[in-house]
Order: sequence, then structure tokens, then C-alpha cells
Amino acid sequence: MTASASSAYDAIVVGAGHNGLVCAAYLARAGRRVLVVERRHKVGGATTTEEIYPGFKYSCCSYVVSLLRPWIIRDLDLPRHGYEILPLEETFTPFPDGRYLLRDSDPERTKRAIAKFSKRDAEVYKQFGARMAELGRLVKPMIDGPAPDPTARSPRELLRLLKLARHVRGRGEEWLVGNLKMLTMSAVDFLAEWFESEQLIAPMSVSGIIGTFLGIRSPGTAYVLLHHYMGEIDGSYRAWGLPKGGTGAIADAIASAARALGVEIRTEAPVERVLVENGRAAGVVLAGGEELRAKAVVSGVDPHRTFLGLVGEEHLPPEFTAEIRRFKLRGSSGKVNLALDALPEFACLPGVGPHLRGDITIAPSIDYLERAYDEAKYGRFSRRPFMDIVIPSLTDPTVAPPGQHVMSIFVQYAPYKLAEGAADWPNQREAFGDAVVDTLAEYLPNLKERILHRQVLTPWDLEQVYGLTEGNIFHGELSLEQLAFLRPAAGWSRYRTPVERLWMCASGTHPGGGIMGAPGALCAQSMLSARAL
Ligand SMILES: Cc1cc2nc3c(=O)[nH]c(=O)nc-3n(C[C@H](O)[C@H](O)[C@H](O)COP(=O)(O)OP(=O)(O)OC[C@H]3O[C@@H](n4cnc5c(N)ncnc54)[C@H](O)[C@@H]3O)c2cc1C
Repeated sequence: MTASASSAYDAIVVGAGHNGLVCAAYLARAGRRVLVVERRHKVGGATTTEEIYPGFKYSCCSYVVSLLRPWIIRDLDLPRHGYEILPLEETFTPFPDGRYLLRDSDPERTKRAIAKFSKRDAEVYKQFGARMAELGRLVKPMIDGPAPDPTARSPRELLRLLKLARHVRGRGEEWLVGNLKMLTMSAVDFLAEWFESEQLIAPMSVSGIIGTFLGIRSPGTAYVLLHHYMGEIDGSYRAWGLPKGGTGAIADAIASAARALGVEIRTEAPVERVLVENGRAAGVVLAGGEELRAKAVVSGVDPHRTFLGLVGEEHLPPEFTAEIRRFKLRGSSGKVNLALDALPEFACLPGVGPHLRGDITIAPSIDYLERAYDEAKYGRFSRRPFMDIVIPSLTDPTVAPPGQHVMSIFVQYAPYKLAEGAADWPNQREAFGDAVVDTLAEYLPNLKERILHRQVLTPWDLEQVYGLTEGNIFHGELSLEQLAFLRPAAGWSRYRTPVERLWMCASGTHPGGGIMGAPGALCAQSMLSARAL
């Protein structure tokens, strides 16, 4: 065993996911000496792009971006380090009856497209967008700062809550009731208050279930819908984009910015445990026994992995451990990435057009989506799943050989815990991949002939390969009881932990998952203002 000089680093960050990297960069920017240790051979965590087959670059996990905070992009000067976003403006939904819905950034065109299904919906669609943007603006201050904590009962906290209440002042009762309803309703019920056509409600509702083990009719999913509306690219709401070079290029840009600020990054350095001495984090021990010491340790991995794995119950108060055990991860998603020798064609809209450049949603009806969830509730993957698809190579030719393409298929539901008696995930992986391709081929009849390679990632693979406990894409569901001052546990939303000098900076903390960077940056800011190192 080698022991480095005492507290050689100010901070050691465990995990080079984008949040760990952002945290490290902010600490280094404030003059601290920081080491990031990552178990994989490369940085990025779930924000990764990998050339699994020569010439084809898959964004294996995350595939689109919108929530990355603009102030982080500016502070770390990410464009100088290669960060570039290409717009993704269309949302295409094919239906089994041969019709389709194509929405894009042109309001008049979208209105005409929706009017094919309901003239009334076409009229209110814009108003709905404006309402969501307004709500997003209300909630947005929450994601750019630490969560207001009513349990803290300090005058400072009271002031923060009052500041937030300012946004509510002067609004009518109807506005308040509408918003409170949103916190508790299902995505479908909420949307049905606005729209009548199922062809609009079904594809819009899926933003409420991404990454959750809930159905579109489950209470609480309306809020998740809002979370997905809060994205901001160059200031426009509901704007998602494709990172040039894949989502891994975002992590690479952050890592490059961090290195330029002096951060040291070690890959293939899995942390086995956090070194706790006299109730304080003193460093980490790597697999193989190497001991690295620092004044503070920051965990960039999920709460279960951090506390139940790296720290150990013996160093934690039992009531805290119990809360962490109750924190729900319950992975529900999988991913299928395809390498294609040419573009496939939709039966309902043959040829290459804008519909292939955007987001393609397989969400043909409310019942279809709810049935997909039903199967998962009983421990089976959906035979006919919800899918969210992009073909990034059409917009960004750097990710596939000339004339060829990559197709990214995000899939729900794929429950981490399978029914008793069912084969385990490694033995169901290919059947799951087949269910995805077979379902998609109903809409894209020539898809199968186009496939050169296929990568299937089940929740089990997400855990094994990317270190996401139970395959949860957000390090914990974004359900209301796990958000804001309750993430990851009541009283512990401020990036601190019950172990002195151990901090948390990843998606399991406020404001949650997605390529946002906010947990990492807010953790660093909290550490610096607490003079923790
Ligand atoms: C299939 C999938 C699709 C998604 N799609 C999108 C999307 O399109 N858009 C979007 O915004 N978000 C999406 N997400 C969510 C988003 O990718 C994640 O919320 C985000 O990347 C998490 O970042 P993080 O830094 O908090 O954690 P992670 O990216 O999970 O990083 C944690 C890091 O810690 C490392 N690690 C774990 N254990 C150890 C250890 N013991 N020692 C050292 N290192 C360790 C891991 O290898 C990993 O690199 C998706 C996620 C998945 C899985």
C-alpha cells in the first residue's frame, strides 16, 4: 500500500461524470488543488460517446442536451474547449394508421399539423407552451441555487423562501390552483385539461415518465413534464439540442476546462472506500489498496453507492441510512444504439426529410403507453415499448462514416428488477433488443435490412458498465418526494453529508439528473462558502 503525503489534495472527487468534473473545475477555479478519480477508462459517466464499432460513435447513454446551465457554459468557457450544440427542432410521431404528427419550431406549421387531429388543440397549443415557459421561469431559480430548506428554520432560509414567494405575489387564485395541481397530477390528466386529441396528448405526456418507474397516468408525473420543459439553449424554452461529436463531447469539454484550471484526472482508478477517520472523510482508498488523502472528499456517484457502498453504515447515523435505503432508484430505462448502412424510411412518410432530423417518438396512444408500464409493474420489459429516437449522424456527420448513420433509441420500460422466475437481464438482453427493433420495424419496414451493428443496454448493463445503481438514469427518481430539500434525504440537500468533510455533487442531489451541471457547480460553491477546504 502506498500512502501519499498527508492531504496532498484539497479535494478528491470520486467519479468523472459531468457533475464531478464541473465540481472539480469550480474548486480549481477558486485555487484549490483537486484530483478526480474515475473507475472507467474514460471520463463522462452517462455523458459519454464511444466508438463501439469502428467509425460509429454512439452516445451510449444520454443523447440530447438542454438543461446544461448557461452560467456554467460561460464560467468554464466551454465553447473554447469544443462545446457546440446543433439544434434539434422537430418532434415526429408516427401512428399505426399511417398518419403522423410533425411539430417543429415554426408555430404556424405546427398549428396546421395539430389541426389535422383537432382544431381546438391547434388553437391552444401555443398558449400551453407560453404557460409552461412561465412555469419554467418560476421554477428555474430553484435549479440555479441550493434548494430552499423549510426544515432548516433559520432566518436566512426564511428569507430565501420569501424571495421565491415573491414570484407568486399578485397572481390570481386560478393561477395558484393550476400550479398546485401540476405538482400532484398525472401527465395525462394535466394535458387533458388543455387538449382533446390523443395523438397530441400521448407524445407530449412521455416527458413526464422519462427515467421514472411511473406510468403516464400516475400522479406526480405532470411535474416531471415541467422538468423537461425547463431546458434552455440560447435562451429559448423547450429547446433540445445535439452536442456536436455526441454527448461525450460535453464531458470532454468540461474535462478540458478542468485540466486547464489545474485539475488532475485519473481514469481506471476505482474507489473502493472513502477513508473515514474520527468521523471525518480523510481521503479515498482505491481498489488495489492505494490510499489518497485530501482535506475533503466529494462523491460524484449516486447516494446508494456513496453511503451504502463507499462509506459504510458503520460511519452513518441509522436514521440517515434508513432514509438513503428508502431513496428510490428503480431503473426503468434501457438503450439500443444502432449502426445503419443507410437511412431507413417511415411507411407513413417515406424519404429523407426534417422528420428524421428531430426527435422521433413512438408513443401512438395513451393506452399503448400505459400497457407498456403495466408490463414493467409486473417485472417484465415492455414488448411494445415507448421509444425516443434520434439519428444524430444526419445533423452531425462526424459520428458515422460517410453515408452511414447511427440511431439512438431510448426505451421504456425495462425494469431493473425482473419478475421472479424470469431469466436474468444478461439472458434477456437480446430478446429486449429484438422487441425494440421489431416494434420500430412496424413503422420503419426496411429498418432491419439497414442494421450493421446493434448495442443493447439494459438497466443491468447501465449499472455494470456506467456505475448507475439499479440502472437509474438520474441517480434516483425525479419524483416529488425525492426533489429539492428532500434530495437525497430531508435535511441533507445542501451537498453536505453526516460524515464531516464528505460532500455530494452528482445527480442524486438537488436539482437532480440530466446533463445539467448544476449539482456539481452548486456543491463546489457550497464547499467554498463554507470554507470547507
Ligand atoms: C440511457 C440514458 C439516457 C439518458 N438520456 C439523457 C438525455 O438525453 N439528456 C439528458 O440531459 N440526460 C440524459 N440522461 C441522464 C444523464 O445522462 C445523467 O443524469 C447524467 O449524465 C449524470 O451525471 P452525473 O455526473 O451526475 O453522474 P454519472 O454520469 O453517473 O457519473 C458518475 C461517475 O462516477 C463513476 N464511478 C462510479 N463508481 C465509482 C467508483 N467507485 N470510483 C470511481 N468512479 C466511480 C462512474 O463510472 C461515472 O463516470 C440519460 C441517462 C441514461 C443512462
